[in-house]
Amino acid sequence: MDDYSLLIDLHRRAQRQGPGGELETSKAIELTGIDLSAPIKLADIGCGTGASTLVLAQSLNAQITAIDFLADFIEELETRAESFGLSDRITPLVCSMDNLPFNKGELDVIWAEGSIYNMGFETGINNWKQFLKPGGLLVVSEITWLTSSRPSEIQRHWETEYPGIGTASEKFNALESSGYSPVAYFTLPESCWLDNYYRPLQKRFADFLNRHEGSEEAQALLRIEEEEISLYERYKAYYSYGMYIARKL
Ligand code: SAH
Repeated sequence: MDDYSLLIDLHRRAQRQGPGGELETSKAIELTGIDLSAPIKLADIGCGTGASTLVLAQSLNAQITAIDFLADFIEELETRAESFGLSDRITPLVCSMDNLPFNKGELDVIWAEGSIYNMGFETGINNWKQFLKPGGLLVVSEITWLTSSRPSEIQRHWETEYPGIGTASEKFNALESSGYSPVAYFTLPESCWLDNYYRPLQKRFADFLNRHEGSEEAQALLRIEEEEISLYERYKAYYSYGMYIARKL
């Protein structure tokens, strides 16, 4: 097994593959001001096993294309959508976020929780804009510095892992430069990281090691996850995910 299949195996059984929360998805929906009964077309990009997709499908009158490049995650999403009776609202699609199959101006809303970093924030918002109608809404969560300066350990870590990390004002500048107008912003609370993501992840460690008979590769992956969790616990005052809501001009 390579690292990739190990990563999939560790994360596919999870409700979510990154920090977030149902309450926070609902809060973002409310802040967009979308008319809940109006029929709309929405793409949930980098949807994983569907944490946000299911909330969106329950809350909106939307036809949702749920996109992820990992077929295993999309399979889990299909099973979950079915068990919630939401399959008719969700079209699952295995596809890369840098090669989306939409027509220009087709979408009312683009949603992406904890995934745009895979393209980079600026590349993502620029590339995806063509698929939104004028006046369409973009909702993305993105790792964000909460302060103007940081202890060097955490600064170095994230600049190596994700050089695109910035403050909210930098992200809003990028949005404005790309032809979006800011609508709303909030940061994800600690519960989105610890209760909803890291603690459930840690609970799966033992079964994961068993499945892989304690292999060196499996242990190495868990060490990386533990290190990320430990950094969060020590430095959570300095970074979180920001939820960015903006309108295409
Ligand atoms: N939105 C989900 C998953 C976040 S994790 C949640 O909040 O739980 C990031 C997701 O992006 C993963 O599911 C990963 O498979 C997906 N991803 C990474 N690179 C991608 C790409 N190039 N195209 C599409 N999806 C991608």
